[in-house]
Amino acid sequence: MIFLKKFLLKFSPILVVGIISFGCEFPRNVSINVSQKQKPIVLTTFTVLADMARNVAGQRITINSITKQGAEIHGYKPTPSDLVRASRADLIVENGFGLELWAKEFVLSLGDVPTVVLSKGIKPLLIEGDLYSGKPNPHVWMSPLRAMQYVDRLTEAFIKLDPEGKDVFTSNSLVYKAKLKALDDELNSSLSLIPKEKRVLVTCEGAFSYLASDYGLEEAYLWPVNAESQVTPKRMVNLINKIKTNKIPAIFCESTVSSKAQREVAKSSGSKFGGVFYVDSLSGPYGPAPTLLELQRHNVRLIVNGLTLKEGEN
Ligand SMILES: [Zn+2]
Repeated sequence: MIFLKKFLLKFSPILVVGIISFGCEFPRNVSINVSQKQKPIVLTTFTVLADMARNVAGQRITINSITKQGAEIHGYKPTPSDLVRASRADLIVENGFGLELWAKEFVLSLGDVPTVVLSKGIKPLLIEGDLYSGKPNPHVWMSPLRAMQYVDRLTEAFIKLDPEGKDVFTSNSLVYKAKLKALDDELNSSLSLIPKEKRVLVTCEGAFSYLASDYGLEEAYLWPVNAESQVTPKRMVNLINKIKTNKIPAIFCESTVSSKAQREVAKSSGSKFGGVFYVDSLSGPYGPAPTLLELQRHNVRLIVNGLTLKEGEN
């Protein structure tokens, strides 16, 4: 019987809640000690932040993402099991800048689980166009240089959570920031291969503002933010005209939304559909974007391949 209870406490959070609420003699902190095994648990709102957090945390903290790979993260609807998991976490990591429309209510319902908002203190680029006009563009991690500020926020938060790990977190953070700086150099030299007049990046969501601003690209998109990912005839016609006027050889869409409308835009404008970007989610471990660094390399490879196509090439 004792073995069974231990098994349930370890492997079934829902049953644990059930046992506790039906008056089991085990006090609540027993289940927490058994399942945590001393390591703090940190949950991030999406997979890209989980990867960044793991780079800083090393082996000292268990990091998981609330949303799964491939999920649409702006308008995500948390499940009861997300709430159970999050209520046992020691820290929730959010992006902020209005990215996670669901996070405020979610965090409030958890009670006293602390949170850290990674975009806090960063100067935002603003969304242009339609309903979200003038609001911060939340996709700051898409700039390797600005992503370093997320790394600083994570490092501060982890030191607060686990003060004995300070040296490990500080050293991991320096290593990771050096990788982001090297990535910045790499993206700079790759993107410089695109002729100046072809540097227009056409995507589904306007998620590339930070990347476009850092590397001298012009941005055009089907909708400004996935939170209102509406394809209207007017938006499609405007985009088709822009592509035709600038003779843009390839256009793109992101993995967490349907690319159907963008493929139609490609057909109507005589442009090529240049592939699927990863932005709001990583791919699986064997996909093209298992980490933030690989995500950036994958996207930039598609951009350079697509925008350096000569007329008539496929
Ligand atoms: Zn997005």
